[in-house]
Amino acid sequence: MKSKSSPFKIVVIITLVIVAVIIGLVVISNNNSESSEGKTVNNQPPIDGQPTLGDSDAPVTVVEFGDFKCPACKVWGTDIFPQLVNDYIETGKVKFSFINVLFHGEESKLGSLAAESVYKQSPDAYWEFHQALFNEQPSENHDSSWITPEKILEVASGVSAIDTDKLKSAIENGSEMNEVNKDSELVTEFEVNLTPSIMVNGTMIEDPFDYDAIKSAIENALGKN
Ligand code: CA
Repeated sequence: MKSKSSPFKIVVIITLVIVAVIIGLVVISNNNSESSEGKTVNNQPPIDGQPTLGDSDAPVTVVEFGDFKCPACKVWGTDIFPQLVNDYIETGKVKFSFINVLFHGEESKLGSLAAESVYKQSPDAYWEFHQALFNEQPSENHDSSWITPEKILEVASGVSAIDTDKLKSAIENGSEMNEVNKDSELVTEFEVNLTPSIMVNGTMIEDPFDYDAIKSAIENALGKN
């Protein structure tokens, strides 16, 4: 019986152990930089001048980067957002801002311009208009053209606080285009590449439909206050 392993065998075993340790370290460091909630960045999007729902003194800020033309954003608004409102916004723990993303081209731009113009005219009317415009997004063929000046004015006429004549000329003059451009700069700065993207303070939530991850990021942020 051979009592001693050959030197070659020992070298192979040592090599395997080293490789295993390296793999282990790589996995651990990946887990550190990316938690189950999502990627943490050094800062959070500034929300000054952005439509914001909830108590302005709320300790945690949740930002949605969204697009009126994006079907997933509409679904997020009906499936996830009401839970956030109920659990955190109405309880004064979270304030919520929406930043426009123009991934669907001219219609995204028109919808954003309209929403910014509504916000400028009457901040209180913003969220009702926001919801009403999303409600008009067709459930099928969402790529077909539906955000038109006529549609916007039709939606706006259903929101009592909006002066539609004033809105029409604001859209024609592009008077709030600077706000739309400001949002686009934030999209670039925060490397938003899908909509909706949800950020809780400085944490980009990996899966915006994972409400548990959103909750956990909020609870984490609340704990730090
Ligand atoms: Ca904005």
